[in-house]
Amino acid sequence: MDVFQKCRNYTQAKDAIREGFYPYFIPLDENEGTEVEYAGKRLIMCGSNNYLGLTTHPKIKESAKKAINRFGTSCTGSRFLNGNLSLHEKLESELAEFVGKDEALVFSTGMQVNLGTISALIGRNDVVILDKDDHASIVDGARLGYGKIERFRHNDIEHLERVLKSIPENLGKLVVVDGVFSMGGDLADLPRIIPVVEKYQARIMVDDAHGMGVTGNGRGTAVEFGLSDKVDLIMSTFSKSFASLGGFIAGDEDVIHFIKHNARSLIFSASIPAANAAAALAALEIIRTEPERVMRVNKIAERIRSELKSMGFNVGTSVTPIVPVIIGDDEKTFISWKMLFERGVFVNPIIAPAVPPGSQLLRTSYMATHTDQQIDFVLGVFQDVGKKLELI
Ligand code: PMP
Repeated sequence: MDVFQKCRNYTQAKDAIREGFYPYFIPLDENEGTEVEYAGKRLIMCGSNNYLGLTTHPKIKESAKKAINRFGTSCTGSRFLNGNLSLHEKLESELAEFVGKDEALVFSTGMQVNLGTISALIGRNDVVILDKDDHASIVDGARLGYGKIERFRHNDIEHLERVLKSIPENLGKLVVVDGVFSMGGDLADLPRIIPVVEKYQARIMVDDAHGMGVTGNGRGTAVEFGLSDKVDLIMSTFSKSFASLGGFIAGDEDVIHFIKHNARSLIFSASIPAANAAAALAALEIIRTEPERVMRVNKIAERIRSELKSMGFNVGTSVTPIVPVIIGDDEKTFISWKMLFERGVFVNPIIAPAVPPGSQLLRTSYMATHTDQQIDFVLGVFQDVGKKLELI
């Protein structure tokens, strides 16, 4: 059997391209944050994770340029060997302070944080316990570990407790949840999860890729609930509110030291270029000093949720700037995506396996820099498309 046979059999995406319903890998010619250009057409971006709108902030762009002038364009190696900069370490100490932990460790992407951290911690005598809606990078990190993987129903604390109870006491246990769930825009129920984690002497790691910069006055979901001290490990990425690329894990000194010397995705991969580290540092400074941005994105999200709901759309249980519009079948999801796109609104259609069958949705997300006029326009287009397709 030819290993490539599966590639020849894979026609799903090609069929979609032929039929004009292919919403992925759209090559943007311009990206100004809230507005993008594709094939000469302007669209309002409602599908990005640039929650604070910082990717075009002059101070951040300037910091990145200065860092290139000082350090060049690449570190050409792993932090473990030649690719460690004082700038990476400065970023780590500021991040640790920001999230209220001893230390932080910067990886090259958020995906690599989860791959490296979870696989380093989960040995043969450990079990990793995941919420069913956890991000793919958490699942893959768990798969790379040598221990067992257990799952509990989304935010279902009774189920989590049953799972923890069933695990022999002599095994190490790490519960990993998203702080803000990336598709639903809802929060991990930390006030109810943590007492159960403590009861069974487990540890908890929160992936706050979508929470940092957005929840807890920008300091994340653990802070939102006043539970930073109870969350053992806090992870986030620079590819969303931090307007850069990279990611970090923060926790106790000995745990971070262990991860630093055992996470293969850190040790065997080149470090983030100075420009990315400098951009993340500058973004951190803005998040700390301009709380109005955090307030603005949450206010916009509140308006969007309430107006979409009153039009008759189902926005699930979102409480963040990720606002899913649940459609419930593949075809209608793609048709509504296309109609929105043609009318100048960029959103992301999400189907199984990213969401369970029956929960297909348009993932919409908002930025602090969206203007009220842009939001008026987006809501108008949603209403028009919703009526035409009898979604509302
Ligand atoms: N965790 C979550 C919850 C995410 O949504 C993402 C990215 N979409 C990641 C981790 C990975 O982050 P990065 O893009 O930095 O690899």
